[in-house]
Formats: sequence, C-alpha cells, structure tokens
Amino acid sequence: MAFLNHELHIGRINTYVDPRQPQERAIITHGHADHARWGHKKVLATPETIAVMQARYGLDCAGSFQPLNYGERLEIDDVAITLFPAGHILGSAQVLLEHKDCRIVVTGDYKRGADRTCTPFELVPCDILVTEATFGLPVFQHPDPALEINRLLESVAANKERAHLIGAYSLGKTQRVIKLLRESGYDDPIYLHGAQVKLCTLYQQLGIDLGELVPVSEATKDSLAGTITIAPPSALKDRWSRRFPDPVPAMASGWMSVKQRAKQSGVELPLVISDHCDWNELLQTVKETGAHTIWVTHGREDALVYACQRMGLAAEPLSLQGYEDEGEE
Ligand SMILES: [Zn+2]
Ligand SMILES: [Zn+2]
Repeated sequence: MAFLNHELHIGRINTYVDPRQPQERAIITHGHADHARWGHKKVLATPETIAVMQARYGLDCAGSFQPLNYGERLEIDDVAITLFPAGHILGSAQVLLEHKDCRIVVTGDYKRGADRTCTPFELVPCDILVTEATFGLPVFQHPDPALEINRLLESVAANKERAHLIGAYSLGKTQRVIKLLRESGYDDPIYLHGAQVKLCTLYQQLGIDLGELVPVSEATKDSLAGTITIAPPSALKDRWSRRFPDPVPAMASGWMSVKQRAKQSGVELPLVISDHCDWNELLQTVKETGAHTIWVTHGREDALVYACQRMGLAAEPLSLQGYEDEGEE
C-alpha cells in the first residue's frame, strides 16, 4: 500500500500534490492554472513557482507560502519531500516523496528536451512513478523546435509586407518562443500583446534574458510590417488583430502536429513546439527511473499504461479530472 493515494494525497501529513480544490496543505508543481489553484492554506513550491502564482493571482492567493529550492530535502514527520527540475516552464518541479524505503516521484508536467527558459529535467530514480501523459500516443513525435523557428524566420523573410502573429500561452510558451528566436540569432524587437507583458517581465526579473520586448500598443500599423508579435491564441481571431498589416496567423503548441487542430484554429503557420514529453520521451523516462509501478495521469493514459504493462511493469491510469494544460491546448 503506497503512502500516496490516487488523489495524490499524502495521508500521513495531510498534503496534496496540485489539488483541484482548496486544501490545508498543497505542494504545487508549477504555475499553470490546472496545477496551481487559488485558496490553499499552506503552499510548498519552488521560489519561482511562488513568484508566478503571486504575479497571476495576487500576493494573498494562499494563506502562506514555503519556498523549497531544487534538491533541498524537507522532512515533515516521517515523510521527506524534495523538488527536482521538470524542464517544463520556469520553476516547474517533480516531487520526490520518501517514506521508509519507498520513493515516489510525481512528475507534474515535464519534458526532456532543451529549454533555456528553465532548469533542465533531472532524472530521479524511484519505485513508483506518477507520470503525465499529455502526448501519450505513439503518433506524437515532437520535432526539433529550432527547425520550427527556422520555418517561422523563413516566412518572415519571405513576407516583408506582412506582420507575423504568433498565438502562444502567456506562461511558458511565450517566453520559450522568444528565447528560441534569440538563440537562432533573431535580435529585432519582439512585440507583445498586453496580456503577455506581465509574465515576460517576471521571467526577466528572475534572470531569463529575453532581449528587447515592446508592447504592441506602442507601435503604428505601418511599423509592424515584417515584425513578430506574440499574443494569446484567442487574440488571433479577435478585432485586436486588425491593427496588423495583412497578418500571418501562426501558433506555437505541441498540438500543432495535429493538422485538424491547426486548421480549426485558422492557423496559417503551425509551429510544433511542445513543453511536454512526446511518446518516446515518456517511455524513456519510465525505463530510466527504474520504477516498478507506473501511475499515468493527465492526458491519454491508456496507451502508456498498456506499453508499461508490456514492459513487465505494474501500471494503471489515475482518473484525475480536469488537467488539460492551458499551455498546450
Ligand atoms: Zn503545465
Ligand atoms: Zn498540466
């Protein structure tokens, strides 16, 4: 019998991981809204996740906050808690829970690929692995994001009279796209929809250099030809987009590999940029942790459960409702 139940509740210390309802004590893996909720009494998280929560929901969004740095071990009664980098967004953490001889890792959202807006994923050996499965089907094989950014830059170069409008969620994806552009040598100002400004500023305050960013409200229509603007996906079809000269609607998301999704959202230039593991990375992680038991949640559970069972592991889906990543919809 594990000391963590299927609701991700640690009964011995009455603490939940990423609870959906307000709780006495919560460990929060990262700042996306499906994981970080308002109204817990005590929140334990990385300093960056606490900063993100306070920026989004206000300083009093929890009764109290306890920061825990990556790799620092906290003992509460006979349970030890350690946070490790998940490589998903700034501050994102996997949670290692230890009780007696049993090690349980709750991954939260994670990815294995490089991302210079956050600390890289660290593999944590364990007995029970609770893994997300947002892209848990063999058909999901994420391309190299640098190639996606090259396609964007080629389109910008070929359409100097048009403005490129990239739909990207405000926490994580926006800053990742900006950083990828900088890494590929793009050093022009990048324009931001008003909704993207606050968290970009926070990232910069926390030491992530994003180069020159300009609120699009400060630009004239003519001056936006040949430029790149990042906006919430919902703004692409909005009246707001009329301020741009003949805009090229683009979207950065792991879901852009699904042609139908790109088509439905009216996207001309789909960019497959994911902040979650693809199928191979999920299997790689399952193997490398050495876990004998895999709990799969948060996405397409069945295929991964079946694949784990074929590898001789005990595996089952957790029916946790409502975790569809805002950063990846
Ligand atoms: Zn997330
Ligand atoms: Zn999520």
